[in-house]
Amino acid sequence: MGAHDDRGIPSSGTDEQRQRPPGAPRPWENTDRAQAALDGATGPEPPSPPHCPHCGLAGERRPTYTGQHVLLEPALVLPAHLVPGGHRWHIDSNGVAWNGGFTEPLAGSRCRIPHQLACPGLSLDEIRPWRWLSAVREENARRAQRRADEEGCPKALPDAG
Ligand SMILES: [Zn+2]
Repeated sequence: MGAHDDRGIPSSGTDEQRQRPPGAPRPWENTDRAQAALDGATGPEPPSPPHCPHCGLAGERRPTYTGQHVLLEPALVLPAHLVPGGHRWHIDSNGVAWNGGFTEPLAGSRCRIPHQLACPGLSLDEIRPWRWLSAVREENARRAQRRADEEGCPKALPDAG
């Protein structure tokens, strides 16, 4: 027993970067189902086996705070800044997974990804990992098409769809 007081030093080993504003109510309580879909907590739900419906591979199924389950890519932990916003999953010490959303990841933080992002049964067009970028590209395609129309140029853009 020295003069040190080591209380409050968190144990490491699990994802503990949860950034809930102090005192904030749990916003997901009202919109659980919509939020679960938005997060990508799309099962498969127990008692179905934790297998991907698109490729058949087994994933790491975790419960989420919306009551739905998410299938994570097993044993893959990545630097959070490499993972597109909306696909960064963290696991609390109670085993519950949550999606970090589009919040800027903390420097040096790590995260999991949903199996869907790595699924060989889905194309990138189906997954749309960079949703905000897809939206910008679609808007630019519309603008470019409008401009081409105005200039009387009938050429269609190769990647406008
Ligand atoms: Zn799959």
